[in-house]
Amino acid sequence: MNLAKALWRQGLSEPDTPAIFFGAQQWATYGQWATRSASLAKNLLDAGLKAGDRVMIFMGNHPRYLEILWGCWWAGLVVVPVNAKLHPEEAAWIASDSGARWVFVNGEGSHDDLGSLRNAERLLDISHDETAALFEPEHALSGLPPPAESAHDALAWLFYTSGTTGRPKGVILTTRNLMTVGMTYCVDVDSVSRHDAMLYAAPMSHGCGIYAIPHLMAGARHVVPKSGGVNAQEMFELGRELGAVTTFAAPTIVKRLVDYCAHMGLSHDEVAASFKTIVYGGAPMYLADIKKALAIMGPRFVQIYGQGESPMTATVLSKYHIANTQHPRYLQRLASVGVAQTPVLVRVVDAANRFLPPGEIGEVMVRGDPVMLGYWNQPEATANTLVDGWLKTGDLGCLSEDGFLTLKERSKDVIISGGTNIYPREVEEVLLTHPGLAEVSVLGAPDPEWGEIVVACVVPSPGYTLTAEELDAHCLAHIARFKRPKKYIFKETLPKNNYGKVLKTQLSQELREAQAAKQPPSAN
Ligand code: AMP
Repeated sequence: MNLAKALWRQGLSEPDTPAIFFGAQQWATYGQWATRSASLAKNLLDAGLKAGDRVMIFMGNHPRYLEILWGCWWAGLVVVPVNAKLHPEEAAWIASDSGARWVFVNGEGSHDDLGSLRNAERLLDISHDETAALFEPEHALSGLPPPAESAHDALAWLFYTSGTTGRPKGVILTTRNLMTVGMTYCVDVDSVSRHDAMLYAAPMSHGCGIYAIPHLMAGARHVVPKSGGVNAQEMFELGRELGAVTTFAAPTIVKRLVDYCAHMGLSHDEVAASFKTIVYGGAPMYLADIKKALAIMGPRFVQIYGQGESPMTATVLSKYHIANTQHPRYLQRLASVGVAQTPVLVRVVDAANRFLPPGEIGEVMVRGDPVMLGYWNQPEATANTLVDGWLKTGDLGCLSEDGFLTLKERSKDVIISGGTNIYPREVEEVLLTHPGLAEVSVLGAPDPEWGEIVVACVVPSPGYTLTAEELDAHCLAHIARFKRPKKYIFKETLPKNNYGKVLKTQLSQELREAQAAKQPPSAN
């Protein structure tokens, strides 16, 4: 089995069907995409690369991304997609850890200085003519070698975790993992047909790129915005021009779309003309935010929960569940991450890995075909994370009687104050119901008396003057006294990584440094 088989099939049977767009302009038909990827595969193998060798992609979103991914798979090679915002030295570390032989970069992007990445066996800049030549077909698709035969458990995608603590780890994802994730999308997340279009605004090096698999399987269109990233106006316009697109959006991106929509005063019909489906996930979506998103953009949202180790595939909160406002437990469901996706089992366990009954909080475990084989060259980390075939996610949550999973926190983010567990997410949810708050992140700060105290870093809504007293009164009206923040830090923005996740480790670090210096942290 080979992930490129679907492209081969599409290229032969539907050669003239539009496949890839760069902005609103067609970049390739399925015939062209397949022929370019097959040509690249042939050139890679002719140059001496062998099945199983690693090829790194250190590029922002670009149509070539898709041609490289499938070209590598066509040849039986392993892709190492690296977040384009990493420092070249961090990328160089990943290149060396993964043993990547060739590295694709986009010189038009932000990498002026590639540092030690230049030590790669070959560094290929997609903006150079000689790299473009690798995709130029010498033969028609039918005259090029078909996709390599590879085992179901052959390594296909070596994904490096964001590594908020220590060095990132390479997550080994196989053909089986990615095939399952692709097919599950079509069953659990959204139906896909050749009339659909997937818009890649979030980084393709992460889950968003993996969503190319189901859209290719269904012969749909793939749209890379000219900006290569998130620009709400561009996203709306592309949807209007190409016909209601689907996109993956971390909660921060959803916010930007909602703000744009509200600012432009768009009706639900106008939104529907741009977006068929918005899949959100990757970080907590607060109840107040999803309610606002639904009110402003209408019922076009699906939530997924997953992690690099079981990409995009642990649970799903479907459009149906999100729209079913009449259900007696509608709000609990909306605040949850939904039910287990088809190919996985999801359980909550105690510290001894024993299954817990519904309602009890413990660590979330996932088992099934999307789950990684292990970490690259890290047997110890693998043994700690894969236990009896179960993936330990490091997330805390609880299941309801009817199978909905509510996430509480990453276990390392739980605050223990005076011996009691406080889940930041719960406090954040309450604070966000205050109309004057745009964003919040709650964390623990070391305290000699309590062990830790609850601190809230808050970003006021534009034009709103907020005080700590006002927020304290709001908390007192909604949650137990002991859970409410003892301290508020007002900020203009919260630090986030390239995938839109708030960098709690950076905030904690700032807090510790400010405590050490006995002065409040900066406003940025
Ligand atoms: P990553 O491996 O970078 O994709 O990060 C995965 C982590 O993001 C998970 O372990 C969760 O902590 C968090 N996450 C992913 N999806 C969701 C979601 N829908 N709601 C809340 N947190 C999420």
